[in-house]
Formats: sequence, C-alpha cells, structure tokens
Amino acid sequence: MKERITRFMQGRYGIDQFTNFLVFAALIMLIIEMFIKVPVIRFLFNVLSVAAIFYSYFRILSRNHSKRFAENERYMKFHNNIKFFIAREKSHMQQRKTHHIYKCPNCKQSIRVPKGKGRIAITCPKCHTEFVKRS
Ligand SMILES: [Zn+2]
Repeated sequence: MKERITRFMQGRYGIDQFTNFLVFAALIMLIIEMFIKVPVIRFLFNVLSVAAIFYSYFRILSRNHSKRFAENERYMKFHNNIKFFIAREKSHMQQRKTHHIYKCPNCKQSIRVPKGKGRIAITCPKCHTEFVKRS
C-alpha cells in the first residue's frame, strides 16, 4: 500500500507554502461560514472553501512543476509584502508612543521627532528644508 502511494506520488509537485495557505484559508472560511446567517453569503463561503481545497489537491498532484513553482513564487511575494507591511505598521505604532512622525512639507520624507519637547524647528535630513512643529 505504502509502495503504491509512493509510486502514485512520483513526479507530483507536492506541498508548498501556497498549498499550506490554501488549506488554511479554506479552514478559516469553513469556520466563518458557521457564523453566517445569510444563505447567499454562506453558500459563497462554502463554494470558496471547497474550491480552495480542490485547488490545493490539484496543485499537490500536479506534474507541471514549473507552473506550480511560479504560482508559489507569486504567493511568496504577496506573503512577504504583507509581512513587511505589518512589521512596519507595528514599529510605527511603537514609535508613536515616544515619537511624532512628521512629513517634510517639501519632499514628503518621514521624520521622527521625540515627543514632549515643545515647539521645535525640524530640519529635513534629505532636502534640508526647515519647518516648525510642536513635539
Ligand atoms: Zn525634505
């Protein structure tokens, strides 16, 4: 039996990050679906989660490695963008406790200024424009 599975899986693409994401997304949609009262939306979530599961099976069993690899690359790019965005927002939020972040009126460069120093003149490090703000 194990041998038959091994033979069946030979040359197949297998699991990658994108498949993991699809399965995870399907699971989340199935959970959300349980709380939805509107039949049309419920149906939509049902169809989407089933489609995601079918698609992940299709990808695991696929023999077209280069196409699946390209899909995964695209997914990873998207994944990293989101990760980068969240990390940046998080660090901004932490900085906002102790710092103000102003934009240079001339070149739109973000400038970090410590809080609680009263009225201060800020010189843009990029274009050297000077502007006054309360910190
Ligand atoms: Zn500037």
